[in-house]
Amino acid sequence: MKCARCYAPRDIRIVESPDPEPLDHEFLLAVAAVSICPSDHHIYREGHSSGVYPDHEMILGHEFSGTVVRAAKNGSGPREGTRVAVEPAWHCGHCDLCKRGLVNICRNVIFPSYPNRDGALAEYIACPSFSATVLPDDVSFAAGALAEPLGVAIHAVRHARPGFGDVVAVLGVGVIGTAIVELCRNAGVRRILVVDPDESRHAIPLALGAHKAYTRVEELVEEFGGTELGPSLVFDVTNAQESFGEAVEACEPGGKVIVITIPPHDHAELKASTARRKELDIQFSRRSRHTLEEAVRLIAEGRVHPESWPQKEFTLDEAAAALECSIAPPPGVLRTIVRVGA
Ligand SMILES: [Zn+2]
Ligand SMILES: [Zn+2]
Repeated sequence: MKCARCYAPRDIRIVESPDPEPLDHEFLLAVAAVSICPSDHHIYREGHSSGVYPDHEMILGHEFSGTVVRAAKNGSGPREGTRVAVEPAWHCGHCDLCKRGLVNICRNVIFPSYPNRDGALAEYIACPSFSATVLPDDVSFAAGALAEPLGVAIHAVRHARPGFGDVVAVLGVGVIGTAIVELCRNAGVRRILVVDPDESRHAIPLALGAHKAYTRVEELVEEFGGTELGPSLVFDVTNAQESFGEAVEACEPGGKVIVITIPPHDHAELKASTARRKELDIQFSRRSRHTLEEAVRLIAEGRVHPESWPQKEFTLDEAAAALECSIAPPPGVLRTIVRVGA
């Protein structure tokens, strides 16, 4: 099969590799669309992911959809010809954390595109049958690929449990931040405030339910800091180094900060006295668990609108350009989509 392999930082080559050989519980997927995630940048730019180095040239890409071309031999999962989206955190099902239902932090998780399991920037990928969710005919492959980051947003919002009295602040309105805006609008919260230094990213969340946009957290704090008009729920989705501390500054006393950000340096600072005096609830949120079906349902019902999150498309042959575009997207573009196959 044709695939895009990352040989070294910023060195992606289109090469031929043997087709994956699915195990008995895996189906073979003909990949149709891959959404490039900021977490793909780590191996692409630095050659490792949070200090974990791959021991072979990796195929990146973990937000994907496609058509089943060979069903699992053990009879489980989707049939041949089924269009599906795939949940990429493949949990083991038998460790202590899986038994507690915490499948997203499974001790033995396999994550395609994370060392050393190849990802989806390829013509084919083998996936366990439990990972698939059927895409209704009217949900596109690109929207199916975006169901994964939507699932990450659903997981974070489930942690937050927003209510109609809440004022929500979303720091960083890329795809996950924009999805959080849509989910909080659906939850009927009182007010949604967004912060992003890139003003070209303000129009989309404002059109999808946010009430006001800021370029800096300080502007929001000056306007509402510490008052009941300020945010009671703050989502940190910036991937910026300082945003954890800023989220703590922005949050109302007694409120909750939900941290999805992966900061560039593996160390984040907050002002301890502020967090303590406000008695903040700080919740980290990782990947997603059991969210893909809900994500696809929300898209199919027209309650979340990934087709309106601005995208730029590339072919598999252009995978290197797609990664570069995802690192430095044109104004307003939220996601880079790689189309694979016909
Ligand atoms: Zn992702
Ligand atoms: Zn497990």
